[in-house]
Amino acid sequence: MKKIFTMVAAIAMAVTFANAQRNCGSMEHLQQMSTDPQVIEKRQQIEAFTEEWTRNNGGDRALVTIPVVVHVVYNTTAENISDAQVLSQINVLNADFRKLNSDAANVPAAFSGLAADANIEFCLASTDPNGATTTGITRTSTTATSFSTNDGVKFSTSGGKNAWDATKYLNIWVCDISGGILGYAQFPGGSASTDGVVIDYQYYGTTGTATAPFNKGRTATHEVGHWLNLYHIWGDDGTGCTGTDSVSDTPNQADENYGCPVFPQVSCSNGPNGDMFMNYMDYTDDACMYMFSTGQASRMQALFASGGFRAGLLTSNGCGAPNPNLCNAPGTPAASAITQNSATISWTAAANALSYNFEYKLSTATTWTSVNTTSTSFGLTGLTAGTSYNVQVQTVCSSGTSVFSATGTFSTTSAVTCNAPGTPSVSAITQTGATVSWTAASGAISYNFQYKLASAATYTTVSTTSTSFVLTGLTAGTSYNTRVQTVCSAGTSANTAVTTFSTTSSTTCTDNYENNNTTGTAKTIAVNTNLTARISSSTDKDWFKFANTTANRNIRIDITGLPADYDVRLYNPSGTQIGISQNSGTTSEVIIFNTTTVGTYKIQVYGYNGAFNASLCYTFRASISSIAFRESEEAIVEPMAIEEVQAIAITSAYPNPTSDKLNVKFNTAENANTTIQIMDVTGRLIMSHNYAAIEGSNTVVLDFAPLANGYYTVVLTDGTNRSTTMVAKQ
Ligand SMILES: [Zn+2]
Repeated sequence: MKKIFTMVAAIAMAVTFANAQRNCGSMEHLQQMSTDPQVIEKRQQIEAFTEEWTRNNGGDRALVTIPVVVHVVYNTTAENISDAQVLSQINVLNADFRKLNSDAANVPAAFSGLAADANIEFCLASTDPNGATTTGITRTSTTATSFSTNDGVKFSTSGGKNAWDATKYLNIWVCDISGGILGYAQFPGGSASTDGVVIDYQYYGTTGTATAPFNKGRTATHEVGHWLNLYHIWGDDGTGCTGTDSVSDTPNQADENYGCPVFPQVSCSNGPNGDMFMNYMDYTDDACMYMFSTGQASRMQALFASGGFRAGLLTSNGCGAPNPNLCNAPGTPAASAITQNSATISWTAAANALSYNFEYKLSTATTWTSVNTTSTSFGLTGLTAGTSYNVQVQTVCSSGTSVFSATGTFSTTSAVTCNAPGTPSVSAITQTGATVSWTAASGAISYNFQYKLASAATYTTVSTTSTSFVLTGLTAGTSYNTRVQTVCSAGTSANTAVTTFSTTSSTTCTDNYENNNTTGTAKTIAVNTNLTARISSSTDKDWFKFANTTANRNIRIDITGLPADYDVRLYNPSGTQIGISQNSGTTSEVIIFNTTTVGTYKIQVYGYNGAFNASLCYTFRASISSIAFRESEEAIVEPMAIEEVQAIAITSAYPNPTSDKLNVKFNTAENANTTIQIMDVTGRLIMSHNYAAIEGSNTVVLDFAPLANGYYTVVLTDGTNRSTTMVAKQ
């Protein structure tokens, strides 16, 4: 017998694996528990309740959410399926029981009107029976290599895991089930300690160890269907046509279908549509079952009606608010909007929180500063730049306070360096003004320029975006201090070092060579020595004399700081005027001339047209020029008589000296044909240029590049009137 039994078992197993047929242990389990008279009675009550409720309220399908706990009971590593695989099955249940499964469209048209949304959803429990937070997954290592349908997996004493409160949770055990059983469920009415479904780890979910053709999660859909009081669709009467699944809209069907049948499969004279083999409660492959019928949905929903066997699940908080007595710490507080001296600290809300005790301190400190707030964030201010701080928070609940969260750490941003500019330098110093300049500083938005009398205590501050500032209104001969600081987005830099300068003294023009006659007493010029003077009145004419001891050498006269309209005349030892320069709009003059003879040359300076400035001090300097003049073999020819006529007047010739172009600017009283002549110091005509002048201002550009270095006279004439000026080529 034993030998024969072994042979039969071996054949059965071979068939099971070769054909990969579905095999469900639920009916066997129902038979086992139906040996208990109390279960039989309970089952009869449930059936009566279901029949009446579906007859009266069959169309009502309120949304039901069932908290689920998945107990992974494993002997091998492979059996300890991943969280992802656990979740994949929950997703399938939610799709199938809400008719959201993607293959619902495969339902044949003949049955599509019967395909139902059972309006039942599933959530992995977030709160365990003790009110504590849970992932909804338990993991139990077991020495049992497999479990049968005798519920050993449901008790820790037999190597399994005890059920959670079955009135609050759907217990799903995942383990290795022996005997080729894919899974089994306990119908409603049995013991709470064994209530739930058991799924073999190879047929659970859609990933990991899930094995085709039962790798689409339909084993659990099928078994949860049993758990929700559905029978197999063929009525479990063998191959007969007398059994019933107690659902009116499923066709009478002889026996189970396997694999993936082709529509229609007629049995029990149920043509033309035949069996509803694509129903989850048949035995077809996972890919080939994709519907519950409306009648099945109503039958399942009856369990959740008032007084229904599983109505207690509706009040479960397995997926809802945690136990009101819990007082958990918030998450670790995090800092945002961090600046040099502030930050916003935020934390996740904790359940049951009345308020929070937020604390912070310098990381280097030992004591905390505590703040109570009902908010989940706190703005810290007055912090130190570039410094590390610690933060923590605890929840205040009606039941007390939680432990503190983990400590968060953040650092304020470092102070941005705002560099000072370079030490200011001073130029263009006059008696009453000066220009103060400094090098730009990177990151500068503007500068705070400061100045004061050196004898004063406080600075005057001027904000400017420029890197220089022109001081005016200063006092002559007086010492001033200046300094600058940079204004950056982060603040201001340190001040630069102080630069001290003195305005030009009003008493430096002691050499006032006033003489109104053309040959008056002159000031002797020492070579390479600065002389200063003022043109102090409209009749003031300053004379300088230069005792030339060497013939045919070149002398350069530099005069700076002149009034804007001046007249400089040069006379040879014979008293003959050999050059004149009149300028308007410029304040400096360069004269280079060749001393043809030994003797005293004189230079006269005065404000032309009465221009003078009693407070303006100009500088006169003579030097020996290295510029080579063209050798002259002719005696000095006295220039043409100078006749200043307003009808035609050179107003400026620039640049002077020039190395290339010379702009001759002049006015004429009316349109006139003019001639511009350039003569060297010997009076020889070098170039002549005809120009049709128009009334008003004219400018003629002359090319001096080809000319030898030296001193030249520009003569403008219209045939009647003349105007001249002296220029140097160098
Ligand atoms: Zn079944």
